Amino acid sequence: MRASELLAPTLRETPAEAEIVSHQLLLRGGFIRKAAAGIYTYLPLGRRVLAKIEQIIREEMDRAGGQEVVLPIIQPAELWQESGRWEVYGEEMFRLQDRHRRQFCLGPTHEEIITALVRSEVTSYKQLPLLLYQIQNKYRDERRPRFGLLRGREFVMKDLYSFDLDQEGLNQSYQKMYQAYSNVFRRCGLDFRPVQADSGAIGGNYSHEFMALAAAGEALLVYCRECDYAANVEIAEARALPKAAAENPAPLKEVATPGQKTVTEICTFLQVTPDKLIKTLFYEADGQLIAALVRGDRELNEVKLQNHLNCRHLVLADPERVMKAAGAPVGFVGPVGLQGIPLYADLEIPYLVNGVAGANREGYHLVNVNPGRDFKTAAVVDIRQVEAGEPCPRCGAPLAQARGIEVGQVFQLGTKYSSVLGAKYTDARGQEHPIVMGCYGIGVSRTMAAIVEQCHDDQGIIWPLSVAPYQVVIIPASLKDDGQREVAEGLYRELAAAGVEVVYDDRDERAGLKFVEADLIGYPLRVTVGKRTVTSGTVDVKWRSRKEETPLPLEGLTAQIQTLLAREMEKYRLRG
Ligand code: ATP
Ligand code: MG
Repeated sequence: MRASELLAPTLRETPAEAEIVSHQLLLRGGFIRKAAAGIYTYLPLGRRVLAKIEQIIREEMDRAGGQEVVLPIIQPAELWQESGRWEVYGEEMFRLQDRHRRQFCLGPTHEEIITALVRSEVTSYKQLPLLLYQIQNKYRDERRPRFGLLRGREFVMKDLYSFDLDQEGLNQSYQKMYQAYSNVFRRCGLDFRPVQADSGAIGGNYSHEFMALAAAGEALLVYCRECDYAANVEIAEARALPKAAAENPAPLKEVATPGQKTVTEICTFLQVTPDKLIKTLFYEADGQLIAALVRGDRELNEVKLQNHLNCRHLVLADPERVMKAAGAPVGFVGPVGLQGIPLYADLEIPYLVNGVAGANREGYHLVNVNPGRDFKTAAVVDIRQVEAGEPCPRCGAPLAQARGIEVGQVFQLGTKYSSVLGAKYTDARGQEHPIVMGCYGIGVSRTMAAIVEQCHDDQGIIWPLSVAPYQVVIIPASLKDDGQREVAEGLYRELAAAGVEVVYDDRDERAGLKFVEADLIGYPLRVTVGKRTVTSGTVDVKWRSRKEETPLPLEGLTAQIQTLLAREMEKYRLRG
């Protein structure tokens, strides 16, 4: 490709709307452009990277026995009503009507459509197992589309669905996908970690997320450096329990704490440590008011709480509703004397002796609060967020914490969809069973952004060779120099003919600008044709990822470059 013909509009300035590096660099490098919030156009360079990632995924899905299909993006409401998710999906679903006023949605995911397909096409045990996948746009009207390709409203996903006879078959399919996902992310050059995960609205009961480690990641995970335990904090088990304090319960007392609302303020005012405090958080769980209790030095994890409550919607209660129910504003509420509101206490709460809590009276707190004696709970449950340094639930070594971008997730669905939608098979003895399913998603466009989050420097992107839009860029130091131009043109033709993905920067621009743009775009290998090419017959070759530049003779250069590329590509090959 000649740079003079390539539509790669680079930007010198960082666009103000882009908060994180991948968003900034993908815009600046001319890979993507925004069409609306969370909706992007892929320019030629962006499309090429996406296609490379898709191809890696396709190869690994096929290797694992997957068969590619294309399912409709526009899906009839009836199917979603059958599964019960037309309601559940809520505002995240893009809905539309046809001219006959029939309702449809733009597919946020495809369990319904594919289960309906399988229910009509698969009847016998002889047709199973089956792994079907597609790579296609998904539509989710996210509450906060942001970070460019990381959280879009239109985004590319690979989704695979497995259909098995029984749980054992599902275990095998799951294992195959787990391995295939590891292969995909390795080949994309990502530093990633599979973690135990919550199964969320999709349902099912066993799940892993694949996390690309990155500071910009929205997910928080804990992992063990000694064993292979790793989990999203949304499900990571809290194992550390405090020792009971060597203190005798003292009589409950109300104290004035005017204007002291936050944990820090109260602790300073009353001269206590935050682990003595009982934080009382009011939530509306499917509309019902509940209160959750965690220690002042802890964070509540809403996903854990929601899982215990087994509710669809969990939101922090409106301050006015709290005021009405507790008789005091948020900041002065506590568990003692609350009427008719179920209390869910974290595992650590019962160990508190002489704790501090809001008095349900503005400007007052209670001291010497003793759980059990002073209030009763509906349940004692693990609802706090596990933190770095706590013991690994498997081996006891201290856990480490990291941020991650969820690039993929695998779920065991079981018969959740097959039973409601009636996808059954008949076994050898003529008996009917629901098909046992799994589903497996990769955020393809999100993966592209995650790679940039991990692979960049101050100058721009450093694409791993396996997913780079082009592998090589040729830059002539001076196009006006006939000798240089001829060599550069010749090399370009030869490399292109040899099947190397090469850009020849033939634009009438300063060489300095070409170097800057090549670094921004992130071509893995740069070949500079300069004065010395004409005088001593060498070009300068430099990897984007390294500092040093090496002269190479023109003689046999194409073969030499091919060897360099092949050697670099080894990094992204699978081992074993
Ligand atoms: P998240 O928790 O980030 O909202 P999810 O768990 O809802 O994602 P899944 O239904 O598991 O997403 O979808 C499979 C994959 O699709 C995710 O692992 C992620 O990589 C990708 N993905 C999901 N939502 C988005 C989005 N809004 N933009 C880009 N990629 C997404
Ligand atoms: Mg997910």
